[in-house]
Amino acid sequence: LADGLRCIGCGALIQTTKKGELGYTPMSALLKGFEHDEVLCQRCFRLRHYNEIQPVDLTDDDFRRLLDQISATNSLVVYVMDVFDFSGSLIPGLHRFVGSNPVLLVGNKVDVLPRSLKRTKIRDWMRQQANMAGLRPVDVALTSGKNGDDIPHLLDLIEEYRDGRSVYVVGVTNVGKSTLINQIIKYVTGDKKDVITTSRFPGTTLDRIEIPLDDASNIIDTPGIIHADQMAHYLTPNDLKYVSPQKELKPKTYQLNPEQTLFMGALARFDYIQGPKTGITAYFENNLMLHRTKLANADDFYSKHAGELLLPPTTEGLAALPPLQRHEFKTTEKTDLVIDGLGWITVPAETVIAGWAPKGVSVLTRKAMI
Ligand code: GDP
Repeated sequence: LADGLRCIGCGALIQTTKKGELGYTPMSALLKGFEHDEVLCQRCFRLRHYNEIQPVDLTDDDFRRLLDQISATNSLVVYVMDVFDFSGSLIPGLHRFVGSNPVLLVGNKVDVLPRSLKRTKIRDWMRQQANMAGLRPVDVALTSGKNGDDIPHLLDLIEEYRDGRSVYVVGVTNVGKSTLINQIIKYVTGDKKDVITTSRFPGTTLDRIEIPLDDASNIIDTPGIIHADQMAHYLTPNDLKYVSPQKELKPKTYQLNPEQTLFMGALARFDYIQGPKTGITAYFENNLMLHRTKLANADDFYSKHAGELLLPPTTEGLAALPPLQRHEFKTTEKTDLVIDGLGWITVPAETVIAGWAPKGVSVLTRKAMI
């Protein structure tokens, strides 16, 4: 029934089987659409009738194709990342795809970082990490799509750097891009309806949502790509609650002796191997249970208690979790050991430490931010 049919909003091929993917529309809605002579995918339907965009995932190939199109345009690229999961929100090779277009880097979800963390420091860190990934952003903005306070400032920056051109918003899934775009839509349109422009040449656009900025240019939302190395992908929605911070992180301080271990549920582990008895500070979701043991017993403790005493994930969820992998570091200055997407632990200089995370999830160190 849906064969060869395209959404009049975004041009995607209509399909009724794969929810959350391009062109999905429930069969009942498709039939209704026929009646009204208006076939829209679910995503465009929601946007048109509720002024709300829905996340859509793309396969790698489609995403590359989409990024390729961007390099051929003259535009500003707004690259949304999660300040809490930098490696997990990197788009590999983005610097090649943007071509000569300027990139405005947006560090989203800044609301979860402790207020004691200076914004200039976060921005410097973002820029430094971006440079290491081969990207030279024209500027770095911090936002919280959740509370929306930073939207006017973000739009000012966009206006400054776009210089009359269209704006592409890109990002991997889970960085909060949809939430952010919805705030932008709310801000830009007030309560006006009909923010999508109907595709004039059906089939020639690749699932983009266009928010008019002026007569000639738009903000164009692109689908997110799934980044497999995110903690979020290994967890059930229920377990995720104990991992993704919803509110400002409340640091917890522990006095540790060398040869002690701290478990972050069954998801990650910190070994204090060498150094003086010292205070270390942990920054994780406020409800994530941290558990201290002796380093010598830690392996046994984990195999015995993961999924039960050490939660999340639960025993069922544990099967889907890749085994923890160990990363050892020596500190020469006050350092944050970062488990991407989960949080970090601040340790003093002159220590030997190890961080463990599910294989694929990045463990890295940085100069302490606080
Ligand atoms: P997308 O896949 O990038 O479009 O991300 P979504 O907008 O769907 O958000 C992914 C998850 O992050 C959801 O659980 C949101 O509630 C959460 N989220 C989005 N924006 C923010 C934010 O600014 N702060 C916080 N703390 N959470 C956010």
